[in-house]
Amino acid sequence: MGAVTPGLVCGHHHLYSALARGMPAPPKRPTSFIEILEQVWWRLDVALDEEMIRWSAMLGATEALMCGTTGIIDHHESPAAIDGSLSIIADACAEVGVRVSCAYGVTDRHGAAEAMRGLAENERYLRAGGRGMVGVHAAFTCRDETLAQAAELATDLGVGVHIHVAEGVADRDAGSRLEALAADDWLLVHCVHLERPLRGTIAHNPRSNMNNSVGYAAPTSRSNRVVLGTDGIGADMLEEARLAYVRLREHDVTATPDTVWSWLDEGYRFFPECRDDRVEFNYDHADSAWHVAFTPGIRAVTVTLGSGEVVVRDGLPTRVDLDEVRAKAAEQAARLFARL
Ligand SMILES: [Zn+2]
Repeated sequence: MGAVTPGLVCGHHHLYSALARGMPAPPKRPTSFIEILEQVWWRLDVALDEEMIRWSAMLGATEALMCGTTGIIDHHESPAAIDGSLSIIADACAEVGVRVSCAYGVTDRHGAAEAMRGLAENERYLRAGGRGMVGVHAAFTCRDETLAQAAELATDLGVGVHIHVAEGVADRDAGSRLEALAADDWLLVHCVHLERPLRGTIAHNPRSNMNNSVGYAAPTSRSNRVVLGTDGIGADMLEEARLAYVRLREHDVTATPDTVWSWLDEGYRFFPECRDDRVEFNYDHADSAWHVAFTPGIRAVTVTLGSGEVVVRDGLPTRVDLDEVRAKAAEQAARLFARL
């Protein structure tokens, strides 16, 4: 029998990116982080419709559960299908059996009217009892007025703001622009180029930062709490932890995997009930930071929610048919690619 751990938490995800894998290459090869946003992600998100949002969330949630991840903090953007989008994601996750915190990434990149619709979607979803935060894309795509409105809405609703912060150099003044707004319940994603301290928890996404060549966030150099995320590259938290460890170690050879494990632990502040879930892995030392740091291929065999319901058995989801989810997601991916 393998080791048993609590359910894992992904501290920053973009479930919609489940459909992005295998997408056609952009017409021009991106040469910087901003060009990656412009030529990959901002062409993709504007093409999303409700069916694509639903099946990307179904696939992303199913894959998360199969890795023992029972809580996801998601950040969503679909400029052509804003209204109701957070409920589609929440419903898909509920169907699969994964907990989710949703946020719509408010932005002025298509104008103030779109920012208002994004704010309205956060408000609609949260006031209806949805679990989540007020989302903001990033300071560098928002006017000061929009940032202030998002912060005010979050305060009104008693939730934090989930926002990308200084991921690339274009957003390096995020600290000064957000300083008067940020609070302890904010989730600050990346903070690679943050030039002054901000209140909130840092969501660290080492694989994504390496993939976008934005630099190392060095989260241990800041006093904030840190939670580990994937930024949309799946939700295999043991895999992300292994990568986070070697990247930390490259920065500081005295570091131990216990630091990375404390980042996984921080996820329970957002999803305390995931501590009551039980994940049995196919490896008898999956509960040891040092073992996991050097053991690829660890998979969840059984996932049992705190309620007693088994949602993964023999490595497969019990509530949905994996082959059907994959087939439907592939159909939606084909529709999405045809629009790019
Ligand atoms: Zn992100």
